[in-house]
Amino acid sequence: MTAKFRFAPSPTGYLHVGNARLALINWLYAKKVGGEFVLRLDDTDEERSTEEYALGIQEDLDWLGLEWDDLKKQSDRSASYKAAFEKLKAAGRLYPCYESGEELEYKRKRQLSRKLPPVYDRSALKLTDEEKAAFEAEGRKPHWRFLLDQEVVSWEDDVRGNVEVDCASMSDPVLIRSDGRPLYHLPSVVDDIDFGISHVIRGEDHVSNTALHIQVFKALGSEIPAFAHLPLLMGPDGGPLSKREGSQSLRELRDAGYDPMSINSLLARLGTSDNVEARGHLSAVIDGFDISRFSRAAAKFDPAELKNLNARILHEMPWEQAKSKLDLDGTTEAFWLAIRGNIDVIGEARQWWQVVNGEINPIVEDQAFLDKAAELLPDGELDVESWKAWTTAVKETLGVKGKSLFMPLRQALTGQSHGPEMNNMLVLIGRDKALARLAGKFA
Ligand code: GLU
Repeated sequence: MTAKFRFAPSPTGYLHVGNARLALINWLYAKKVGGEFVLRLDDTDEERSTEEYALGIQEDLDWLGLEWDDLKKQSDRSASYKAAFEKLKAAGRLYPCYESGEELEYKRKRQLSRKLPPVYDRSALKLTDEEKAAFEAEGRKPHWRFLLDQEVVSWEDDVRGNVEVDCASMSDPVLIRSDGRPLYHLPSVVDDIDFGISHVIRGEDHVSNTALHIQVFKALGSEIPAFAHLPLLMGPDGGPLSKREGSQSLRELRDAGYDPMSINSLLARLGTSDNVEARGHLSAVIDGFDISRFSRAAAKFDPAELKNLNARILHEMPWEQAKSKLDLDGTTEAFWLAIRGNIDVIGEARQWWQVVNGEINPIVEDQAFLDKAAELLPDGELDVESWKAWTTAVKETLGVKGKSLFMPLRQALTGQSHGPEMNNMLVLIGRDKALARLAGKFA
């Protein structure tokens, strides 16, 4: 049997790093075992789900390089949910309830004030047929609750080890709303069954849902998939991820110039004791992936680490890979190789492109020195040896060395005090621009 994994976002927003981590881990596991990866759009919430977000999620996964083998939408599957509903009803596992939201809230508050757990009291189970008919005559439509077995449900979790959840302390969950629409639980289980999902990997916020899902799987006569619940991502100081610390959407990271492989490299290992290595390709991340390496302790996401990884990936990125990412006309391999070591995000290449190809304001402190240096610029075509020859000549002729020699030349030629190796920059800037800048001109 093919192992099957799924990533099941709700298209009610764009993906953020926490979602991306779940998508990636499901994808990696699928690749590792030669299984399949299903993208399931949980779009049953008609008010909050939009086509824009559904497409946005696909674009973002595409950008990360996480191809899916199959795309499913819950909005296409109402007939299957209806069939499961009938089956559970016939099995006596669903019962109609007529309480309004306010009535339920009132009960809840009363239980809390008596220091009782706010668990649904199952009073709808005791309704007689006449009472139900009377509610229906009033125009009330029932919502349907799943009758939980009040037992301890346990499973061997791929991340958390043995997990036990006592369902006796849980409310019977509502599976179908009074307008007939199913809530998350039923579609999720029905899809996992119908699509042959063998592994469910999701956030630890779903641990108690899993206990009740296991009961629904059983009630529908299905096998139980393997489960893994990953701890949620935390900020670098162990608190919840704030917007500034990286709970931002993937598209914000993309727009800020991050390379998808920096995100993949980090998220694939975060929360394990394995080293995070800068990887240029997903295939290199699959190799060391092992779900059992993930710890149940919260994983800390540090944007500074992401930035650092991104820089490391760019510093080694070959021209073949970089050229499609540079949104600049006319760039060359020589340009890329010269500047890649000096950028943290791809967008910063623009600044260096401006230096070699556009116009800049030279920084000039001693024009007389620059004028004399200009006269010593080697004749003929400039190449990577020219800088050495030139600065040696300047040093010997003018008796200036070290920083006092290199800094004024760099500042005049690039308008900056730091940057890529000048032997490469001089070639890229070219003689005409170099001479104009040495003369202090905007060029
Ligand atoms: N749409 C659900 C969520 O985003 C899916 C959870 C699951 O993986 O079952 O939380």
